[in-house]
Amino acid sequence: MLSTSAVDPLKSRFRGDLIFPGDQRYDAARVVFNATIDRRPALIARCACPDDVIQAVNFARQEKLLLSVRGTGHNVAGFAVCDDGLVIDLSNMKRITVDAPARRFRAEGGCNWGEVNDALQPYGLAATGGFVSVTGVSGLTLGGGLGWLVRKHGLALDNLLSVEVVLADGRLVTANARENDDLFWAIRGGGGNFGVVTSFEFQAHPVGTVLAGIVLHPAATAGAAIRRWRDFEATAPDESTQGALLFHFPDAPSTPPPLRGAAMVGLGGVYAGAVEKGEEVLRPLREYGPPIADMFQAMPYNAAQRMADFLWPAGLHSYWKSSYLRGLGDDAIDVVVRFFEKVPSPQTVIVLEHNGDSAWDRVPDSATAFGHRAWPYNFVVTSAWSDPKDGEQNVAWTRELFHAMRPFAAQGAYINYLGGDEGPDGIKAAYGAKLAHLAALKRKFDPTNLFRMNQNIAPASVLGVDVPVI
Ligand SMILES: Cc1cc2nc3c(=O)[nH]c(=O)nc-3n(C[C@H](O)[C@H](O)[C@H](O)COP(=O)(O)OP(=O)(O)OC[C@H]3O[C@@H](n4cnc5c(N)ncnc54)[C@H](O)[C@@H]3O)c2cc1C
Repeated sequence: MLSTSAVDPLKSRFRGDLIFPGDQRYDAARVVFNATIDRRPALIARCACPDDVIQAVNFARQEKLLLSVRGTGHNVAGFAVCDDGLVIDLSNMKRITVDAPARRFRAEGGCNWGEVNDALQPYGLAATGGFVSVTGVSGLTLGGGLGWLVRKHGLALDNLLSVEVVLADGRLVTANARENDDLFWAIRGGGGNFGVVTSFEFQAHPVGTVLAGIVLHPAATAGAAIRRWRDFEATAPDESTQGALLFHFPDAPSTPPPLRGAAMVGLGGVYAGAVEKGEEVLRPLREYGPPIADMFQAMPYNAAQRMADFLWPAGLHSYWKSSYLRGLGDDAIDVVVRFFEKVPSPQTVIVLEHNGDSAWDRVPDSATAFGHRAWPYNFVVTSAWSDPKDGEQNVAWTRELFHAMRPFAAQGAYINYLGGDEGPDGIKAAYGAKLAHLAALKRKFDPTNLFRMNQNIAPASVLGVDVPVI
């Protein structure tokens, strides 16, 4: 419990909002994407500027408070909020500045990708954000950043030019290829382990109008449809980033009757090149079947980034499992399809992504803390349900599916897709041989592990003695 007098020094310096339990904004401010996460911080510091972040970091360190950092709160493991500690909430830090001639932009830590791409669209530019518009620039970039331009322009973090970071000792530093280059290496994949990033400077790309959408097939034909997508991917150019999804359409009046509540396999994504060329390239994927619906059309990139938002509404209970795959043979596809036939919740989505043979694996593995660029396919089960009573059944099904996919799994996972219950195995899977170097950098930049509400990289021990958690 934080005493009022303890907070007085912070109050006098803080320009944003300090939200305590009992404040009418408190319950809304502690909600995150995953409804299963129900944490009660002692204080939510909603920062207005980088200096507020410095004050909050210093306060947490001096008061020995558990600290969490919130970009937009989309991490399924719920690391953005903590019990009884301090939340540094960046949701009011949303400034975006675009330098159109240089094709660069700067975004503060509370922005999401929809806001970024809305700011870039008038200039015919786009950023390599996520597959949906609502995820945070912060968490997504610090862990990797897979999106509709990944095969053409790489991950979000491959397009990062510079960051402003508040370190555990309260210093605000710049990190880029020239300044603090070790920190810059670490934050590109190392998540929130090294400090609070207040702003990010990125390279943008000339992507105005794209050919984007999805073709739909009944789930009963999913196996053949996914094989067709996989075979299409074998020769797909960098401009094309397409995935395969197993999902149910919402059983809602806004969905037209043939689709309402229907189980589907969808093959779709973005062609980020000339639309006429895209029509030619995507024809084999779009004509196969034929599909029961072909929803591909030319659209502004910021609209394409919103097309999948409806599949992951906020406020559901969520449990995710994910792994890269060594390949995508028919046997792996059969497992996924078989499990989807008995999925306990219609709100669950299974996603197969193909990132490989593209800009994503042309970046040298040593360039960033992010790893595993050799694995072309990624598999993620995003289980979701409304009634908390259904949790046990959904979690059990997800784990069984994940277990059944083990024979096809690579020894590597994408940190941003982990559900949070993997423990040290998740960290090892995400960083592999890079973990020792990351632990040494953690010791340099955060020796007391102040930033530990994340996929935590423990500081390397000094003389074999583990660093105690404060
Ligand atoms: C619906 C949905 C769709 C998704 N789609 C994609 C996708 O297309 N591609 C993809 O790559 N990932 C995707 N993800 C995963 C996503 O990248 C992660 O959940 C990511 O953590 C979300 O970022 P956030 O800023 O909202 O994170 P938060 O939940 O706010 O924070 C996550 C972690 O990052 C740390 N953090 C947040 N902000 C900062 C900061 N400024 N400085 C330092 N540390 C910080 C936090 O401490 C915490 O540990 C998706 C997730 C969801 C729920």
